[in-house]
Amino acid sequence: MAGNGSSPGKSAGIHHITAIAGEPKRHVAFYRELLGLRMVKRTVNFDDPTTWHLYYGDETGTPGTALTFFVWNQLPSGHHGSGEPQEIAFSVPESSLAFWRKRLSEKGIAVKDSARFGDNVIAFEDADGHKLEIVGAKGAEAIPGWSNGDVPAEHAIRGFHGITLEVSNPALTARVLNQVFGFEPDGVEGDRHRFRAGDGAIGNVVDLRVTPGATRASQGTGTVHHVAFRATGDEQEMEFRRRALEIGLRPTDQVPRHYFRSVYFREPNGILFEIATDDPGFTVDEPKERLGKQLLLPPWHEQRRKQIEAVLPPLE
Ligand code: ZN
Repeated sequence: MAGNGSSPGKSAGIHHITAIAGEPKRHVAFYRELLGLRMVKRTVNFDDPTTWHLYYGDETGTPGTALTFFVWNQLPSGHHGSGEPQEIAFSVPESSLAFWRKRLSEKGIAVKDSARFGDNVIAFEDADGHKLEIVGAKGAEAIPGWSNGDVPAEHAIRGFHGITLEVSNPALTARVLNQVFGFEPDGVEGDRHRFRAGDGAIGNVVDLRVTPGATRASQGTGTVHHVAFRATGDEQEMEFRRRALEIGLRPTDQVPRHYFRSVYFREPNGILFEIATDDPGFTVDEPKERLGKQLLLPPWHEQRRKQIEAVLPPLE
């Protein structure tokens, strides 16, 4: 278990990251087969039930491991730029980096080595253009890995290391991270300002980066849609919402998302943030061993199951 790593009034870090994928079969093969993440839920976009919303994570999609995708095949490619959550970084044990470098290279994926804040990092992209990283993170070996049978458990991705937000005015986003969620500054390296939440081992790093002259990002396939931060439950979610209002942001009311309850707001650099509750999680409507095997619909879409199934593109 990742532990929830929170302290009173502070978020334990990233709950989930939601991104936009294109061609569905290629997408599923990359994240489930190549990266070895578990598909913990196959459902639809609750606001547009004719499109897939796929969830990946550790065995149960623990907060801090949940990477979700809207599969919007018809959408044009996005452009990376400012005002965008950009690199999604995963945590693996330091000793697993060689395994991943070899595995990705063997599949024809270009990998780039770097180091930052004392950790070695390999960077690569998926076919939609998502910027991904695998970080050899201290302490990751203590988190049990889930194996899909192809990636051994010892090398498995443990969850998020964190995310890099490309912004034009980092002070504005820093204020939100600190004053709403309780993230603390954790160092500066080059153009990168690191912020850290809680004391958990996964999903607690947010880097703010400024690239001078970067043009504004545009959303499309291959870009991140939003980043959700953890709240222990309704009480903490409402506290974070209250703080957001207090610094002049415009959070939504609470929205039921079946697997968690959410509040959304746009931070001052234009990135969509979400507050999401840790409960009830992905085992609310199917047992752990069956997660992600069949289309799950929330009760309010269940009467339209036949029509929905007829229009969803195949994943396998
Ligand atoms: Zn979300």
